[in-house]
Amino acid sequence: MKNYPAGLVLVFLILLSCTESNQHQKESILPKTEQIESFKIIDLSHDYSKETIYWVTAKQFELDTVYMGETEQGFYYSANNFSTAEHGGTHIDAPIHFAKGGQTVDEIPLEKLIGPAIKIDVSEKAIQDVDYLIGIEDFVNWEAQQQMTIPEGSIVLLQTGHSTYYPLKEKYLGTDQRGAEAIALLHFPGLSAEAASWLVEKRNINAIGIDTPSIDYGQSQDFKSHVILLSKNIPAFENLTHLDQLPNKDFEVIALPMKIKGGSGAPLRIVAMLKE
Ligand SMILES: [Zn+2]
Repeated sequence: MKNYPAGLVLVFLILLSCTESNQHQKESILPKTEQIESFKIIDLSHDYSKETIYWVTAKQFELDTVYMGETEQGFYYSANNFSTAEHGGTHIDAPIHFAKGGQTVDEIPLEKLIGPAIKIDVSEKAIQDVDYLIGIEDFVNWEAQQQMTIPEGSIVLLQTGHSTYYPLKEKYLGTDQRGAEAIALLHFPGLSAEAASWLVEKRNINAIGIDTPSIDYGQSQDFKSHVILLSKNIPAFENLTHLDQLPNKDFEVIALPMKIKGGSGAPLRIVAMLKE
């Protein structure tokens, strides 16, 4: 220490000890900074823009500039209005989307949206077959490889590899046409109804997600996997990305949708946290 007067040093030491004891009194429940830094955070969400992919019958994203630039008062100001359908881009399907009386997006318990997750990678098969249906076999194989059953309360993410085509509509949706007539032209992988039933009957998961426009495959006409999962209050995350950066297990997901009162779905910011 340099030539500070002894009194000043004493005051400094007293202040320092006060700060320390204050810290002990108010122990944060959050992980310490060093612990946060040892986690890697991966964004599983696409951004919202003119390119955002929507269901072929849904209203697309719009962003209108209210103001951008210097004001007469001398400060800079930027603000926009936006509008969007609930089901477009990276979004959540709330149970009520396909289940009468089911939870709306604001009613989904946060415990279902934050927690331990696993990834099931079927991309090798799905890249070869645009209409690939994820089956019970894919879950059974995962369990055999990982030597464990899908853990209770997991968030299950399905990697088909289809997000590599995003936002090229013709490749990602199977068509760049829009409107009711375009529904028959949709081609992308999804979860089979048998596998959805197996998941709700044999396992106990909190939520499910996929890197395609829908949990049911493009050629589905009855949206059975939606009905099966959402009827059991298992929300679905759609149009995910970056699943290739995740391990098969041992990571956490935080999936927080816009809290639209009474919403059947909503834009979703979803991230994964994994230990480095
Ligand atoms: Zn949806």
